[in-house]
Amino acid sequence: MSDHPTFVLKGGRVVDARGERLADVVVADGVVRAVGVDLSADRVLDASGCIVAPGLVDVHTHLREPGREEAETVETGARGAALGGYTAILAMPNTTPAIDSAAVVNQVLELGRTAPCDVYTSGAITVDRAGEQLAPMAEMAALGVRVFTDDGAGVQDNRLMRRAMEYATGLGVTLAQHCEDDALCGGGHMHEGEWSARLGIAGQPAEAEELMVMRDIALARLTGCRIHFQHLSTARSVAMVRDAVAAGLPVTAEATPHHFTLTHAECASYDPVFKVNPPLRTEADVAAVRAGLTDGTITAIATDHAPHTPESKELPFDQAPPGMLGLETALALALTELALPLPVLLGAMSWNPAKVAGVDDVHGRPVAEGEPANLCVIDPEITWTVRADAMASRSRNSPYEGRELKGRVRHTILAGEPVVIAGEPQR
Ligand SMILES: [Zn+2]
Repeated sequence: MSDHPTFVLKGGRVVDARGERLADVVVADGVVRAVGVDLSADRVLDASGCIVAPGLVDVHTHLREPGREEAETVETGARGAALGGYTAILAMPNTTPAIDSAAVVNQVLELGRTAPCDVYTSGAITVDRAGEQLAPMAEMAALGVRVFTDDGAGVQDNRLMRRAMEYATGLGVTLAQHCEDDALCGGGHMHEGEWSARLGIAGQPAEAEELMVMRDIALARLTGCRIHFQHLSTARSVAMVRDAVAAGLPVTAEATPHHFTLTHAECASYDPVFKVNPPLRTEADVAAVRAGLTDGTITAIATDHAPHTPESKELPFDQAPPGMLGLETALALALTELALPLPVLLGAMSWNPAKVAGVDDVHGRPVAEGEPANLCVIDPEITWTVRADAMASRSRNSPYEGRELKGRVRHTILAGEPVVIAGEPQR
């Protein structure tokens, strides 16, 4: 990283966990060299009118490699992440094969080594994410894996989940849960409610999520294990997490942009681009997720970036796979749709998820002298129109096609190297 020239991010407003101030930021040799007024360097990256913040961190990214490289690769996913302002992403383990062993962990980390964003990976809780026997978490933890999840599915068996939590507590790692009771979901393809009834599409009730949230809070109390709830989507889930946090349990939660911007009414189009798990819910649920972000019950915004090829998303609604693109729209959706103070919004997209992922020694750091230069520069006023075919992803399944959003990343700096300049990828 020392071969990158010294440069200054000029004329921006720094926003980090310490607060806000007008300042130039000089970067050299991979670190922030100076923060102050009227600083200069050989090279200038214009940050006027912009926010200079720690790079964003996504704790929920599906990279599809190994196994479904036609939908996404580590490289294309990471490029989209960099364009979206992310300097770190946490890969989900539902690849083929699943990321459930040291060998596959190493494979993904190796693929990420040249990516324009730091690629971390989660590990599966159970072998092949099948929910039957515990995966070798210790050997994965030894490679630096800090979060384990069977994402794409929840761990159904209560006793196995208890054992996983006891094991994880001993290893000092976090378990993340995709809360969904398989039996209760029973082949549902959208939220069970007035729209599923009207459209004649089999639904899955909110209770399928809520029962697992309830169980895992109980098991966190029993075991002391840190549990992170992924893509929280219902009002009662948010309420249960709020109570658990107030009770001092080691519980955190994330919400996705689609769960705070879209409702089940979108499914009236029968367009599978709106099919996702957990499903789009009611207006009251959307309001509750927003309230959870506002009051700090939900500390992280995560993309659940889930690329699928056009062929698979052109299937009928009940046959298409669930999932939506997210990396290149998450920040703009948060800026456009949420009335959160900037330090709260950026906390939810950078330093809070950095803690969840266990990467807060390098990411989500204050913008201060000597800190690693993982940064993003955001133009909060620019408006732009979402075009999936202009994204870095190999897939096109954005539910926001054609939507006008406010706020976009201008530059992204990874370990002192500008990997995005003026919205253009540099590698
Ligand atoms: Zn999930």
